[in-house]
Amino acid sequence: MKIERVETFVLRTPLGADTFYSSQARFPERTSLLVRLTTTDGVVGWGEGGQYGPPEPVQSCIDDVLAERLLAAPDASPGVVWDLLYSTTRDYGQKGPYIEAISAIDIALWDILGKTLNASVSTLIGGRFRESVKAYGTGGYYSSTDFEPGRDLDRLSATVAGYAADGFGMLKVKVGLLDVRDDARRVAAVRDALGEDFTLLADANHAYNSSSAIAMGRVLEHYGFQFFEEPVPPEDRAGYARVRSRLDIPIAGGEAEYTRYGFRDFIADGCVDIIQPDICVCGGISEVQRIATLASAHNLRTIPHVWGSGIALAAALQVCAALPLAPYTHVPRALQNEPVIEFDRTRNPLRDDLLASEFVLDDGRVRVPDGPGLGVDVDGDVVERYLVRSGDSGRVRV
Ligand SMILES: [Mg+2]
Repeated sequence: MKIERVETFVLRTPLGADTFYSSQARFPERTSLLVRLTTTDGVVGWGEGGQYGPPEPVQSCIDDVLAERLLAAPDASPGVVWDLLYSTTRDYGQKGPYIEAISAIDIALWDILGKTLNASVSTLIGGRFRESVKAYGTGGYYSSTDFEPGRDLDRLSATVAGYAADGFGMLKVKVGLLDVRDDARRVAAVRDALGEDFTLLADANHAYNSSSAIAMGRVLEHYGFQFFEEPVPPEDRAGYARVRSRLDIPIAGGEAEYTRYGFRDFIADGCVDIIQPDICVCGGISEVQRIATLASAHNLRTIPHVWGSGIALAAALQVCAALPLAPYTHVPRALQNEPVIEFDRTRNPLRDDLLASEFVLDDGRVRVPDGPGLGVDVDGDVVERYLVRSGDSGRVRV
């Protein structure tokens, strides 16, 4: 297997009136960096990287540095390429855009391998424990009017009730933009809107120091939340460990961590109960398996973070299908020991329109595509519609 063409696509779409806020940032647009690889046999694979910031630096890592090395590689198997690209960028690329670029390439190579062998990625990485994955919705973001505490509680209640009406039984909402007392009112409103039996999760996007995180965690415990994501900044390992030791609610995190080496230290420092590697960020499908193995050896759960286009979602579904229960029980329990899929509900045409068939919620679950590779087809017209910059390396077939 040899790659002869490497194409990159920066996609961007403004959100207009649907602009939203987390504790960290305003989101006026959605972006993706897609990569399309073509083998000498004409097999095409798609991957995605560059999830959090501007995708152009990730595109540059591929177009200006990695594409040449990939095109020269005599064997384009995912594991072989991963080691080649990481080993030759280690001195300057252990975290950040280079790893996101390697993630995108790795996902595309797994897509190609599956198409070459006529098997889904989940089959290739060990087989499927499940044909569908229970989904949790991610929503309950802030709007600009939420900066006046309490003003938009009715809108928040209506929004989360809408998710329940759509079939979700599990929802993650945002905290951390307001102070703890005012966010507690939002948390209470969400619980009140959805009732005692609804599974709720919270994500602070590292808004707190350990003291304020513990205060917020006690609020979440009072309202029966099931995990508390990114309570403190990812660099504050001691803060993570302090929060985790003082609270009963499981602590989740890791979307801003990279490779097995980053997760080794994150786990060893006792930061979390649940690790959340983003497959388009942490090093791709090859590396998330190594990270999940590390977590398994520590009896921790792995719930991949998902924030991207339909390709990111397809990759996460393939990985979630192949994750064993952690730990095993005779009857699986979603979230407690069975992996769940993050199903972002903010408006994103790159997620909903990019693929020939959209992922849909069915009885609270999303089916794992069973076609070869990632099992999805990319709509070229949609790529063209949102394309702002492309790159093309290698020989063009004639
Ligand atoms: Mg998060």
